[in-house]
Amino acid sequence: MEASALTLLFLDVDGTLIPFGAPRPYPVFEAPFGAPPAEAVAHPLLDRVDPALGPRLAGLGCDLVWATTWMEDANVCLSPWLGLPRLPLVDWPGEEDDGGGPAGLHWKTRPLVDWAGNRPFVWLDDEITDVDRAWTAAHHLAPALLHRVDHRHGLTDADFAAVAEWLRLRLSGAPAAP
Ligand SMILES: [Mg+2]
Repeated sequence: MEASALTLLFLDVDGTLIPFGAPRPYPVFEAPFGAPPAEAVAHPLLDRVDPALGPRLAGLGCDLVWATTWMEDANVCLSPWLGLPRLPLVDWPGEEDDGGGPAGLHWKTRPLVDWAGNRPFVWLDDEITDVDRAWTAAHHLAPALLHRVDHRHGLTDADFAAVAEWLRLRLSGAPAAP
């Protein structure tokens, strides 16, 4: 089995697939496969998601996993929009469980590292900081790329290039970029 097949890709939605916060209008995309499901009406920003991102994400060759508070709505609304299959979801601990990490650690970081087990992973999210990178480096034995996306733009060509390069370096056996 190729090493790339073992790499997980944890995917955030808000600020990663759905851009927000830039002082300009956003492009509005059409539902690519007919009318969006009724559930999508509850997510008025869904039409900011470029459906072409789905094939590009699938083309990275990783095992895609939703890592978002959208939970099952990601499979109901976003997977069809992106032309992706139903994906596994990371389940989050309750609010009463703060995880006990250092100050500034994102609430997703520990659950993601737990979910990954001993597998390499890429995490795409607009809220990643160096605290998350340092904690992951200290607690996850396999390679991990914590790649921060600019929420004003969502995923860009530069983000895809960075992930593809990291995956390429991993496969070549060269030291991985942080
Ligand atoms: Mg986000």
